[in-house]
Amino acid sequence: MRAYVFSEWQTKAELREVPIPEPGHGEVLIKIGGAGACHSDLHIMHEWTPGTFPPAAFWPLPFTLGHENAGWIESGDIPPGLEKGEAVVVSPTWSCGACASCRIGETNYCDVEGVVAGGLGRDGGFADYMVAPANCLVPLNNIEPWQAAPLTDAGLTSYHAVKRCLPKLTPDTSVVVIGVGGLGHLAVEFLRELSGAKIIVIDRDEKALGMAKDRGADVCLKSDDSVAEAIRDATFGLGAIAVLDFVGIDSTMLLATQIVRRRGEIVVVGMGGGVLPFQNGLIPYGCSLTYTLGGSTKELTEIVALAENGRVKPHIEKCPLDEIDDVYRRLHDNAISGRAVLVP
Ligand SMILES: [Zn+2]
Ligand SMILES: [Zn+2]
Repeated sequence: MRAYVFSEWQTKAELREVPIPEPGHGEVLIKIGGAGACHSDLHIMHEWTPGTFPPAAFWPLPFTLGHENAGWIESGDIPPGLEKGEAVVVSPTWSCGACASCRIGETNYCDVEGVVAGGLGRDGGFADYMVAPANCLVPLNNIEPWQAAPLTDAGLTSYHAVKRCLPKLTPDTSVVVIGVGGLGHLAVEFLRELSGAKIIVIDRDEKALGMAKDRGADVCLKSDDSVAEAIRDATFGLGAIAVLDFVGIDSTMLLATQIVRRRGEIVVVGMGGGVLPFQNGLIPYGCSLTYTLGGSTKELTEIVALAENGRVKPHIEKCPLDEIDDVYRRLHDNAISGRAVLVP
């Protein structure tokens, strides 16, 4: 079968012929129906090493990239309630099921596996087949795997960030989304569906802002020197109760501290490698600053339901797996709007 194999740090992956993998105990072989192309794969291929991204120390090379996966169950330890040929999405955060975090359902913060999953240290879904743990599958009822693939990371990661802030997002508050690309455009939809807060988005790209407006953003602002002031105006001088940063570079993280209000939440999702000084007077009093990782399997079932009910619709460009190099070149050049999904 074909697989997009990453074999050396700071070198791009290659599409190669490899044997079809065999599922082990508690595992299932999935015939891939679609796998989303995520910006973090560019970080993995071209920037990270175990030194710069310490969780990668647990990633033995080579492995196949692709951590937004969906397809059909082929064989293996098929869990009760699922059957061969059934369409499923694969949660991108693999978990042990037994540690303290897993027991309370926070499988994305598993104390054992946490940062290892298909496409992230294990073989992922840019391939004809992949092996996945049986406990991380969520069945699909009325959408196709290629439509569901972006729900597993672009969807799940942004949904989890939204859910963390949700108790504070009452209709008399504002929330800011910085960066409305693959993840941010879905965050806008989740905010629209789940909260009554005013949704303010910031991006440097007019087209991305237009898409956010169509999806329910109340205020769309181009990122420039005056954007902090514009947000003060849009929030009647108070600032936002929550800021979701889907870029995560120095300037966006600093901006978050300037536009968040007291007792607010800053959630950094983007893996831009930004650094923020933590200093009295820089961050408003009572604020929390969090890095999140993916979302739980339970949250994935909630997103699948939102998509199947037609409440949330990822913006998808379908591309053949053989064109994967070109897709990553365009992703690098910001020439993909929404999400590209590779189909074998
Ligand atoms: Zn990703
Ligand atoms: Zn665990």
